[in-house]
Amino acid sequence: MDSRQIGRDQAGDAAVDRSFDHANAGGVMAPVHPGVLGQDDQNVGIVGEEGPTQLLGWRRNGDAEHARILVGIFANIILRFIIHDIYVAYIPGRLMNTTTNAIHSTSGSAAAASPSRIPITIAVGDGIGPEIAAATRLVLAAAAAPLEFHEVTVGERAYLGGVSSGIPDDAWQAIRTTGVLLKGPITTPQGGGYKSVNVTLRKVLGLFANVRPCASHACVPRSRPGIDLVVVRENEEDLYAGIEHRQTPETYQCLKLVTRSGCERIVRYAFAYALANGRRRVTCMTKDNIMKLTDGLFHRVFDQVAAEHPGIVADHQIIDIGAARVATRPEHYDVIVTMNLYGDILSDIAAEVAGSVGMGGSANIGARAAMFEAVHGSAPDLAGKGVANPSGMLQSAVQMLVHLGLPHPAECIHNAWLRTLEDGVLTADLTSSGAVSTSAFAEAVAARLGQLPQTRAPVAYGASLRIALPDIPPLPAEVREQVGIDIFLHHVGQPHDLATSLLGVVGAGFDMTMITNRGVKVWPDGHPETICTDHWRCRFMSTGMVAVPFAQLLALIGRLDAAGFDVIKTEGLFYFAGKPGYSAGQGA
Ligand code: NAD
Repeated sequence: MDSRQIGRDQAGDAAVDRSFDHANAGGVMAPVHPGVLGQDDQNVGIVGEEGPTQLLGWRRNGDAEHARILVGIFANIILRFIIHDIYVAYIPGRLMNTTTNAIHSTSGSAAAASPSRIPITIAVGDGIGPEIAAATRLVLAAAAAPLEFHEVTVGERAYLGGVSSGIPDDAWQAIRTTGVLLKGPITTPQGGGYKSVNVTLRKVLGLFANVRPCASHACVPRSRPGIDLVVVRENEEDLYAGIEHRQTPETYQCLKLVTRSGCERIVRYAFAYALANGRRRVTCMTKDNIMKLTDGLFHRVFDQVAAEHPGIVADHQIIDIGAARVATRPEHYDVIVTMNLYGDILSDIAAEVAGSVGMGGSANIGARAAMFEAVHGSAPDLAGKGVANPSGMLQSAVQMLVHLGLPHPAECIHNAWLRTLEDGVLTADLTSSGAVSTSAFAEAVAARLGQLPQTRAPVAYGASLRIALPDIPPLPAEVREQVGIDIFLHHVGQPHDLATSLLGVVGAGFDMTMITNRGVKVWPDGHPETICTDHWRCRFMSTGMVAVPFAQLLALIGRLDAAGFDVIKTEGLFYFAGKPGYSAGQGA
C-alpha cells in the first residue's frame, strides 16, 4: 500500500516530520508516530485487523464520537474512502493477524490504554527472502512485538516490472514515512546495468553505519568458540560509489571515493558503539600500505579519534592479515571498524567462522532512517526449498526492536533463539543430520519465547544501546593550488617512443616528469620487464611547481589532442595547504 496515505492529511504529514526531527535530535532513537498510532489528541489514528483484512483509519480534528467505522471482511479487495473527516483503507490479506482486537481505538485515554504499534516497512526480498521473512514475522508475531507492517516490493520483481532502480516510488514513500525498513535479501541481476538495491538504499537514505555482530554458538558444530565481535562497516563510500568506466579497449576503472567526514562519522560511531556496549577494544583495518591517501585517511582519522578514548584499546591491522586472523583467531577481536568493501568481506568471514553466513544479522543506521537485513544474500540455490536458515533476518529484526526502543521483545526473541540452538534445533547449513526446515526452526523459536539459554548468560538489552550519532563539523577552509595535471592516454606502443613524442608538444610552462602504466613508472628509467597495456598516465608539473591557471592546463590538453594523442581523462594535481594531494608513481 501507499503508506503516505496513512497520514496524507496535514496532520499526518506533521506526525511524520516530527518523527524525523526526533530521530535527528537523539541519534538512534525510536521514531514517534503519534498520529498513526492514536497518541495525539487532535489527530486520531485507528488500526485494526479482521480476518485477512487490515483496516487503517485516520480521523482529523474530530472526537471519538464521530468515528463511525464499520469493519467487515473485505478479502481480496482494497477500499479506500473518506467518511466525513475519516480516511479509511482496507488492505486485504497483507498483514499477519497479530492482534486479537478487531479495532484498536482511538483517542485520549482510550488510546493511551491500548498498546501502540510502531509502523515499519517490510520488503521480503528475493530468493530465500520470502521464506526467511515469513519465519521472522512468525516469531515477531508470537512475541507480540508491537509492530505494524507496511509491505513493499523492491528488488527483482521491481526490476522486472520496469523500475530500473529496483525501488518503486511507493516503497520510497513507505520507507521515508516509517523511517525503518526490515528487508529480505535482494538479488541483483547480472548484466543489464542493474544497480544493487541494497547499496542504493544505504546510500540514498544516508545509512552510514553497517553494524554486524557475530558470536560463537557452542551448540553449532562448526562454530569456532570464543567469538564475540562486531564489524562496524562504513556503508556509503569506497569502491561502492559504483563509479566505473571503460576507458580503452583493454582498461576499466572503478573509482574509490573516501571522504574525511565519512571516515570520521563511522570511526566515531564505532567508538560510541563500543562505549555503549561495554566493549574494550576497537581495531581498525585498512590497506594503507598501498592506498596511502584513501585508506591512509581512514587510518589517520582512526588514530585521532582513538586518542580521545583512552579507556578503549585501539589498534590497526592491515586488512589482509586482519581478515586472515579473523578466520583463525576470531576470539581476539572485539569491535572492528573498517571500510566498505573490507567490512563486507570480513563480516561474511566472521559469520561463517561462527557457524554459517546464514546466522548473521545487520543494522544499517542513519540519522533519518534505518534498515535491518541479514548479512547474507538471496541464496538462489536454496530458494523455494524451505531449508534456509532464517537466523540472519531474525537477528536483524532483534536489532530493529532495540533500535525502536523495544528491548523486551528483542531480548525475549534473542534468548529464545539461543535456547533453540542449544536444544539442537538446527537448519541444514548448521548440521549434516536431523536438520529442520525454515518454518520449523521459526516455530521452535516461537515455542521457546520466555525461555532462557542454559549454557550462557541470557541477553539483556538496555537503553544504553541507543547510540548518539556523531555530529561532524565541516572542515576548515584550506588553500588549494593546482600545480600540475595527470593526463591519461590511450596508446599502443613502447614507453620510450611515447615519451619522445610527448616531449615534442609539451611546450613552455610544463615539465613532463613521469609516465606510468597501471601505476608503475615506465619513463624515465623504466624496467624492460614491465608489462605495458594501452592505458598510460603522463604527469605534467608546472615549471617551478607554481600554481597554474586552468586555461594553461586546457591549452596543454589541446596541444596533445591537436598532435593526435588520444586523451581519455585527466586528474588535477593539487597542493592543499602546501602538501601534495596526489600519490607518487610506483617505482618512482
Ligand atoms: P549468498 O549469501 O546468497 O549465498 C552464499 C552461500 O551461502 C550459498 O551457498 C547459500 O546457499 C548460503 N546461504 C546464504 N544464506 C543462507 C541462509 N540463510 N541459510 C543457509 N545458507 C545460506 O551469496 P551469493 O550467492 O553470492 O549471492 C546471491 C545473490 O544475493 C546475488 O544476486 C547477490 O547480489 C545478492 N546479495 C544480496 C545481499 C543483500 O541483499 N544484502 C547481500 C549479498 C548478496
